[in-house]
Amino acid sequence: MLPYQNLREAEEAQGRALSFAEKFWFRYSADKPDYILHYHNILFLMVFYTLAPLPYVLIGLGWFKNMDRYKIQPKVKDSFSNMFKCYKNVMSSFLLVVGPLQVISYPTIKWIGIRTSLPLPSLWEVFLQIMVYFIIEDFGNYWIHRLLHSKWAYEKIHRIHHEYSAPIGLAAPYAHWAEILILGIPAFLAPALVPGHIVTYWLWFVLRQMEAIETHSGYNFPWSPTKYIPFYGGAEYHDYHHFVGEQSQSNFASVFTYCDYIYGTDKGYNYQKQALEKLAKLRHEDDVLVDSSSRSMRNQEERKHHISTEDRKSQ
Ligand SMILES: [Zn+2]
Ligand SMILES: [Zn+2]
Repeated sequence: MLPYQNLREAEEAQGRALSFAEKFWFRYSADKPDYILHYHNILFLMVFYTLAPLPYVLIGLGWFKNMDRYKIQPKVKDSFSNMFKCYKNVMSSFLLVVGPLQVISYPTIKWIGIRTSLPLPSLWEVFLQIMVYFIIEDFGNYWIHRLLHSKWAYEKIHRIHHEYSAPIGLAAPYAHWAEILILGIPAFLAPALVPGHIVTYWLWFVLRQMEAIETHSGYNFPWSPTKYIPFYGGAEYHDYHHFVGEQSQSNFASVFTYCDYIYGTDKGYNYQKQALEKLAKLRHEDDVLVDSSSRSMRNQEERKHHISTEDRKSQ
């Protein structure tokens, strides 16, 4: 809620005319209590998760056949009922786990200093803060994810997220309730360490979800703008982690690749990538002899065969 009766008062307090965005923010938020603005987050999350994975759902259902060639694990097809089951599961998690967390975390949000007031942050400030949020969250997520691959934690918690050995966008937050809570820690820690405006806070969660949906999409589109982000992992990178599953000791990072590089947990992935590149060259040579469906099957078999021994925990 803003402490001004009208726009004129707000402009006098700022000592200048409000920008278009600030006028919009004034009209929207002036009479809304801060806790209502805070609870918008869960609403955004649910609406965003309903809309953002839709293009991937339609591609997965075969609406755009020319996109099939970008599927990372082409042999795996998900039915509509399976996708809808996943969607219902994710929405239940949002309502029963994230929702209550939002309600009880309001005093913390106030305490750490997420502000709702004027002025709005500049675009540069929003950009820098969100970049820092991504770096903090990625580091925290990396270590928590590694711990989730210990025998006990995998069996009891993380196994559910790995039910999708070929992930789909809708399944990005498909996980045990405890995992959703645990991985929420670094996501909240970032704005707690570098508090900003609530608009930045909302945007942070939306962008983080957008990243998770793309990373789990199962499609490696060469035109994705995220390809231009330095050290960005992306769909192929995380797909490998799901493909190997429980045994995986590779690609724990959620957003960037440098943690896996620094801590040496990208060896299996790099080995497999090099092996696949060699096979692609060989395949190109005898391409005319092999029809496309058997190529697709062979691709799956080759991927399995070429998971590095470095990426297999002792079996
Ligand atoms: Zn994992
Ligand atoms: Zn995942």
